[in-house]
Amino acid sequence: MDRTMKTLKRFVLVGAPASGKGTQSSFLSEKYDLKPLSTGALLRAEVAAQSPLGLEAKKYMDAAQFVPDEVVNGIVAQWLGNNKDCGCLLDGYPRTVAQAKTLDANLEKMGLGVDIVVYLNVSPELIEARMLKRKACPKCGETTRNGEELCPKCGTPMIVRTDDNPEAFAKRRKDYETLTLPVVEHYRAQGKVVQIDVTEEGEPEVVSARIASAVAAYCQA
Ligand SMILES: [Zn+2]
Repeated sequence: MDRTMKTLKRFVLVGAPASGKGTQSSFLSEKYDLKPLSTGALLRAEVAAQSPLGLEAKKYMDAAQFVPDEVVNGIVAQWLGNNKDCGCLLDGYPRTVAQAKTLDANLEKMGLGVDIVVYLNVSPELIEARMLKRKACPKCGETTRNGEELCPKCGTPMIVRTDDNPEAFAKRRKDYETLTLPVVEHYRAQGKVVQIDVTEEGEPEVVSARIASAVAAYCQA
């Protein structure tokens, strides 16, 4: 396969909640000059522009309901069509195999495809340890990630962020495992997955460097 950095246009990034995906998403878009796709931002832009898809999406957003797949898929396909020639980073989408299949079909119609899937495989133990270190100040709302005992802003004793409690975390992790991990297998079958295994806490820069060398190796494959 003729795979070079130049032919890598459409990146997908997959990682569990609290896997450090946000940091690596910024790294990827800077390093490879990729336009990040945010389905939330796209939906809001379509709504603001009052496009047909935007008007459809607004009905659900106004009712605080999930926007159905067909609307989200349509908006993403449109965005990818408008950005054919530049590099794109899909993060948080496709979230399910159904979305991935529709994405593939929509891209194929444009003569395009997903070029590479970067999969951050972070051990559940490491993620859980991280979650417990994410704290919030009950007084001023300051949040930290390194287990600080006292608020760096006002000195109040910090508490573990309530949205990070083990039960809520287990639920998000389960959703990710049930819905999103199969997306990795979907693309693995197409030979498009670059897997980065992270089992021990380290600097985000170290993970970034590993991603970069894995992407380079993928291009030579
Ligand atoms: Zn505080």
